Amino acid sequence: MGTDPYVWLDKSLAALHRAHRYRTVAAVYGMTGTVVQRQGQTLINFASNDYLGLASDPRLAEAAIAAIQTYGTGSTGSRLLSGHRELHGELEQALAALKGTEDAIVFSSGYLANMGAIAALVGSPDLILGDEYNHSSLKSGGKVSGANALDYRHGDVAHLEELLKLYRDRHRRCLITTDSVFSMDGDLCPLAAILDLAENYHAMVLVDEAHGTGVFGARGSGAVEHLGCTGRPLVTVGTLSKAVGSLGGYVAGSTVLIDFLRNRSPSWIYTTGLSPADTAAALAAVKIIQQETWRREMLWHQVNHLIQQIDQILTEPAVVPFGLRRLPSASPIICLEGASAEAILTASQHLQSAGLWVAAVRPPTVPTSRLRITVMATHKPHHLHQLVTGLQTLNQG
Ligand code: PMP
Repeated sequence: MGTDPYVWLDKSLAALHRAHRYRTVAAVYGMTGTVVQRQGQTLINFASNDYLGLASDPRLAEAAIAAIQTYGTGSTGSRLLSGHRELHGELEQALAALKGTEDAIVFSSGYLANMGAIAALVGSPDLILGDEYNHSSLKSGGKVSGANALDYRHGDVAHLEELLKLYRDRHRRCLITTDSVFSMDGDLCPLAAILDLAENYHAMVLVDEAHGTGVFGARGSGAVEHLGCTGRPLVTVGTLSKAVGSLGGYVAGSTVLIDFLRNRSPSWIYTTGLSPADTAAALAAVKIIQQETWRREMLWHQVNHLIQQIDQILTEPAVVPFGLRRLPSASPIICLEGASAEAILTASQHLQSAGLWVAAVRPPTVPTSRLRITVMATHKPHHLHQLVTGLQTLNQG
């Protein structure tokens, strides 16, 4: 009866190998802080999204342990059935306060929060206009919703307006979606201009603060605050797994929006409530994010220092063969674009031999291959120095 129906999998993987796009996972051992044990090596960690160093903070661990002892390990059901705990409500109120919104709703991940919010807000008669560099979860949400989803050029509000002019009137509702901080480029979206357009064209705006929360704003509220847009009509989505140091996602916004999502968001209704441990750890982190402003100050000090140092060495002979060019980031995500996927893989392997863990990000995740360096508030000056030296000596790796 014909050939094996799975035979194409081997061919597909072989093609990925040939294109230097094959991916593997390697475990990290022990506590994941600024220094990690990986592939038998001790490495300085520039590959984490734990921007404030909270994932290894003992106060989050204590909160998680206490929650397990009080509530058990699992939430045991959907929030609408047996899975709702007081802790969930406390976290939602804390997130709303952090974001300056009326309410918030916690999902099991940021990915599910984006998918759930988008699928609830728009359907087949509607239009989604999204930045072409938006995170995969925003794009998946668009597909699941059945709406007509079109991309506008990255950060290009003139193109967004063109699309609004062409398509807005042909659709019932319109949702504009954008990352606030682009995860693989580190730049910010032009949120105020997007909101102005949304007002003119009667559109909703969903902004993904996955990499903004805890990092931007005086109290760590996020890039929405930094960009002067707090209080404007927004659907704000985020994750609890990056600067918040736990796991989960959320949407923050008006009372009516959150009430609507509780009633209409499939990825919230039909999944088990966030675990007590993750919820409690996130709650502890949200308090720390607001109180310990030194973490943000230190983070930005390190980011600015590192960018200055990197810019100085990008013309040095060791770096030139890799064709590295710094993308204009405005966040703790610093990306060095390279000549090819192969060059970027080689550079990241050289850095690894020098005791540095820097992620190599390649198509199809991003349009061009790059080293993605993420800075943490808890990196020590000698960690940054070692990275700069590693880049300076790339050819000898
Ligand atoms: N949005 C963006 C911009 C992200 O970078 C990520 C995580 N990579 C997510 C959403 C998904 O968040 P989570 O990891 O909580 O699913």
